[in-house]
Amino acid sequence: MPLVDTLFRSRRISPLVFGVVAVLVAFALSALLPTYLVYLAITAIVATIALLGLGIVTGTAGMIALCQLTFAAVGAWIVSLFTVLDVPGGYILWLVAGGVVAGLAGVVIGLPALRLRGVNLAVVTLGFAAAADATLLKTQFPGAPQGTKVPRPEGFLDDRGFFFFCAIVLVVIAVAVHYLQRSRFGSGWRSVAFSERGTASAGTSVRLAKLSAFAVSAAIAGIAGGLIAGQVGTAYPAGFSTIQSLALYVLAIVSGAYLIEMAVFGGILWVLIPELLKRFGIPQDWGFVVFGALGIQALTTNSNLGQDLRNALTKRRHRRGAGTSTGLVPLSDEAFEASLQASGSGSGSGKPLLTVTGLSVSFGQVKALQNVDLTVDEGAIVGLIGPNGAGKSTFVDAVAGFLPQHEGTVRLGGDALDGLPPHKRARLGLRRTFQQDRVPPSLTVGDYVAFIARGEAEPVAIAEVLAFIGCPPASTRIVNVDVGTRRLVEVAANLAAKPRLLVLDEPAAGLSHEEHVAFGQRLRMIPARYGTSILIIEHDLDLVRSVCSSITVLNFGAVLASGSQETVMNDPEVLKAYMGETEML
Ligand code: ADP
Ligand code: MG
Repeated sequence: MPLVDTLFRSRRISPLVFGVVAVLVAFALSALLPTYLVYLAITAIVATIALLGLGIVTGTAGMIALCQLTFAAVGAWIVSLFTVLDVPGGYILWLVAGGVVAGLAGVVIGLPALRLRGVNLAVVTLGFAAAADATLLKTQFPGAPQGTKVPRPEGFLDDRGFFFFCAIVLVVIAVAVHYLQRSRFGSGWRSVAFSERGTASAGTSVRLAKLSAFAVSAAIAGIAGGLIAGQVGTAYPAGFSTIQSLALYVLAIVSGAYLIEMAVFGGILWVLIPELLKRFGIPQDWGFVVFGALGIQALTTNSNLGQDLRNALTKRRHRRGAGTSTGLVPLSDEAFEASLQASGSGSGSGKPLLTVTGLSVSFGQVKALQNVDLTVDEGAIVGLIGPNGAGKSTFVDAVAGFLPQHEGTVRLGGDALDGLPPHKRARLGLRRTFQQDRVPPSLTVGDYVAFIARGEAEPVAIAEVLAFIGCPPASTRIVNVDVGTRRLVEVAANLAAKPRLLVLDEPAAGLSHEEHVAFGQRLRMIPARYGTSILIIEHDLDLVRSVCSSITVLNFGAVLASGSQETVMNDPEVLKAYMGETEML
């Protein structure tokens, strides 16, 4: 676990105390640093701030932005303009204004990110940087031709003072970023980096998560740009070139800049590499070659300098994939019977909750679903079964809103869901889990549950639901949880959101037989315990038999049989369809 984060989490030191100590250290440094280092130190701090912002888009939210210094240029431009216009309020206010305008620019540049990914997004952001580069070179910053100087804030006029001022800004931004990363926004960014569909089915708007990452990142860059204007007095386009944005991106990747101490590390490299080259009499432009080489190292091997350093410092290696498994053990017969007494039969109230009529979905020539009807009553547990490729997952996707082009209608209680995007359906109480793993490994179990539950669950409730489903404790990092257990964590998290309907797409794949039994027992208890009805897709027919009151069988996209468990399981057509898969019966 990262160093600073470890300190905060262990509660030995709060981020605010850490901030105060950092400000004191900066004050001492501003007095003690050798004169020739002060100016370089300002540059390192400004680069650290820009990197912290960049880390949000690239590190946390998993997108590519190659125009961070263009956002900085926007901030510098606003501060320069306000200097020329002599806007009331002074430098600090102008700095904030620069951040706000850069943040807005971030939203505009983030818009393509709603549709583009990877290389295409890289091209768009690089194009923006290049266009701004060319324009700035032609037009200059306001006041530059006349040599107007941006005034530094009162009390921080000389380089030592301005260094201290920049350090205070860095601390304020670092503390704010720390809290943002730990907030719903931060979880949303991490989730969107791992799975957009998983994010949407948690009731979080993917659009909002991506745009907010771009906005915050660009706003921070804008503030860094305003600081550069204050540092140099008259800003010139050369300080915000495309190639420097590229180099900064490489540093963000190399250092893992979404973590505060790694952004500081990156900021130091930003000035150290050109300085060292200068010492050895090598032209400073060769620094870009060094950054390029570092980037190749980081992108081709799966590790990077920052990570290696972090591991060395914390003396910890992350185990991946393996590790913590389920705590699911079957209840004793008496305990289970007793809990069921309270739970009822599992066949529901007879009042329909989910009503799907005439659902049809085609993928080109493939008719994945044809005219499917299905009802889940309030309080019921309904099974949806059928051979591989029968259309079960397609059914879930359509009901959850991921296939807007479907025909037919979907109602949940009194609400018509047709036309609503996934996150709105989730907010109306329809939650689903995925057949493939969509649990972001960068979160802890507890943060993930809190994110999925959208404020529905306090820590006590989270611990309760985790224990109920047999999941590892909230503090466990998901990266250390095996795949079968992640599916259970996903179930527990969605349950914590107290949805009206929970749709589970093969949740028990990867569990042992004994765990299947235990999981079935927990499922039976869910409607009474959480007020949640269940539609479950499952291959293990023992599990289906033990939990489902009614069952619908799909075959080649059409309903083969539907009704009570007894009728369906004894239907000759169903038996025939399953002939090839006798191990399932
Ligand atoms: P199940 O979950 O029952 O195993 P699916 O719903 O995943 O089945 O798939 C149903 C059919 O639809 C299969 O023939 C599958 O190949 C096809 N299919 C599913 N998703 C897509 C897609 N995105 N594009 C094209 N065909 C798809
Ligand atoms: Mg499937």
